[in-house]
Amino acid sequence: MTLDASHNSIGFNMHQRLLAANNLTLAHIARGAPLAQTLTCIVNGIEDQNSEISGAIFLLDEDGNRLHLGAAPSLHQDYSRAIDDIATDVGVWADQHATDIMIQITAENVEAGQFWRSFCDLALQHGLYICSMIPIRSSTNRILGVFVAYSQKPDQASDKHRQAIVDVTALASIAIERNIDKAKIKKAEDNLLESETRMALAIEGSGAGIWDRNISTGEIHYSAGWKAILGYTDADITNRIEDSYTRVHPEDLASVQAIIQAHFDQKTESYAAEHRIRCKDGSYKWISSRGKVVSRDMEGQPLRMIGMTTDITAMRALSDRLQQNVDLITCLTNEIRGLVFQYRLLPNGDAFFSYVSEGIRDIYEVTPEQVADNVSLIHKVIHPDDFTNYCASLEASAASLMPWYHEYRVILPRQGLRWRHGDARPCRLQDGSILWHGFITDVTERKRREIELQEFATIDFLTQLPNRRYFMARMEEELARIQRVTGTHTAVLMCDLDHFKIINDSYGHAIGDLVLKHFATILRDKLRKNDTVGRVGGEEFAIVLSGADVTEANIFAKRVQQQMAETPLVKGNVAISVTVSIGIAVMNVTDTSADAPLSRSDMALYRAKENGRNRIEIAVD
Ligand code: GH3
Ligand code: MG
Ligand code: MG
Repeated sequence: MTLDASHNSIGFNMHQRLLAANNLTLAHIARGAPLAQTLTCIVNGIEDQNSEISGAIFLLDEDGNRLHLGAAPSLHQDYSRAIDDIATDVGVWADQHATDIMIQITAENVEAGQFWRSFCDLALQHGLYICSMIPIRSSTNRILGVFVAYSQKPDQASDKHRQAIVDVTALASIAIERNIDKAKIKKAEDNLLESETRMALAIEGSGAGIWDRNISTGEIHYSAGWKAILGYTDADITNRIEDSYTRVHPEDLASVQAIIQAHFDQKTESYAAEHRIRCKDGSYKWISSRGKVVSRDMEGQPLRMIGMTTDITAMRALSDRLQQNVDLITCLTNEIRGLVFQYRLLPNGDAFFSYVSEGIRDIYEVTPEQVADNVSLIHKVIHPDDFTNYCASLEASAASLMPWYHEYRVILPRQGLRWRHGDARPCRLQDGSILWHGFITDVTERKRREIELQEFATIDFLTQLPNRRYFMARMEEELARIQRVTGTHTAVLMCDLDHFKIINDSYGHAIGDLVLKHFATILRDKLRKNDTVGRVGGEEFAIVLSGADVTEANIFAKRVQQQMAETPLVKGNVAISVTVSIGIAVMNVTDTSADAPLSRSDMALYRAKENGRNRIEIAVD
């Protein structure tokens, strides 16, 4: 009973019928007739004229472990009944052999195994002999079922049937596969429909405004949510695109169309526009519309575009209000004299002004636009001597989050040297940036007055002696006096503590201060009513001895030195001795200013230092 595929002898009648059946079957397949009907038609083709042979197709279920009758002959009643009975038993029998049926059918010789012998026995019990069995395979060689040829007599399997059997199997394979594909397509379609329905319901339920535009037909469909946003009902809206453009605000129409066209021309990835659109009541709403072409033809021309619309009227109103507030703040800050700013230092060290008022034109002589691009423009106008401290003060404020107060000079193209005062509060942002809000004002005038005040002050704070300015004024008075009153003298002494730096270095600056005060006290004690002493430098003191000549001045100087030697400054159990060098000059009636005698005394002092310190030298006129 083995099959010989190369054997091609086939009875004429049977051949005819098989051909007829095949045509019929192909027509069935093409029409998409039910599978059972198609297979029965195939099976009927195998029955020969004498009805000695008939066939049946058993199909394997999807899991591959059950067989069931797919088609039995309908031409010959005897076969038909017997095969129906066999099929019932095959069902029971296949249950018992579940899971290994597939393995058995894949064996090339289906009659060889015990499994198939049982199948043959089953046929015999119903008075039929199996003369041929052949698996029906798919195009990918998967077993779909088995075709069984029966005879009512043993050894009826004549060669003439064999080619026909192979043909039948091939035909059955096509029919079954087509049926499987159909089922798959149906299932996919069902799934699609189901998900589309679900999607449509979700869209309607969500209230989202969805639109679906067919570009070739010029139709556009809107979801119920879309219509609800604008207050339209189904009856109010046509599905024509030209009508939809009439609802766009006239001022926005051109830009909306340009944005759509750019997307149609594939210049943009998607369509996105914010524009006004007319509602049913005639008012306009701001909407955000986003979409994308979802299909194009071979030339890339858009066919269909789907998009979504959201109502952004409230957001727009909010942003307008914010803008109004910003405008107000900008107006106010621009009215303020000085620069109002927001300055941001990023974690990577980059810094920029996130806001500057118009005052920057005055404070730094740059425009807000210039500084937005390049913050280093400001660094360029800061006085070189003040730049390091300026940077350090900002760094300190950033590190401690303490307010930034700083006074520094700028050199400006128009205004020249000016003083600036910065005042800002820092805060740390989430990304680690530091953001300062503050202002910078012009304090040049105040600074000038401060310096003047400083200069007008007469008393040196540490020693409580007259300061250099006051002393010089006294000197001028004295010069005027000797120029006025002939025959009078005045001596000028310049004193400088010896090696004073060593005092500071050895005992500290505070002790140095005490030594200065100590020396000042000694000088003050030695003065007469008309004499004046002034602190004219760090550890330099000048004295005007009114009416004194060089000799008297020399005596005075010696007394000072002596007193210094006798009364060292005592601090705890340490006595700090300091010597003093003194230069003496006399005022001349010919002196044109007080500077001249002072400078002569200074030169004498220089010699005293040169000659070994703790000395008195007299100026040679
Ligand atoms: P020399 O004998 O050549 O005068 O030596 P010196 O060390 O006294 O001279 P120098 O001028 O080099 O040093 C003066 C020092 O006085 C340097 C400065 O720090 C200190 N000094 C100036 N003003 C003050 C002050 O108000 N308090 C203190 N403690 N020190 C001062
Ligand atoms: Mg000195
Ligand atoms: Mg000194």
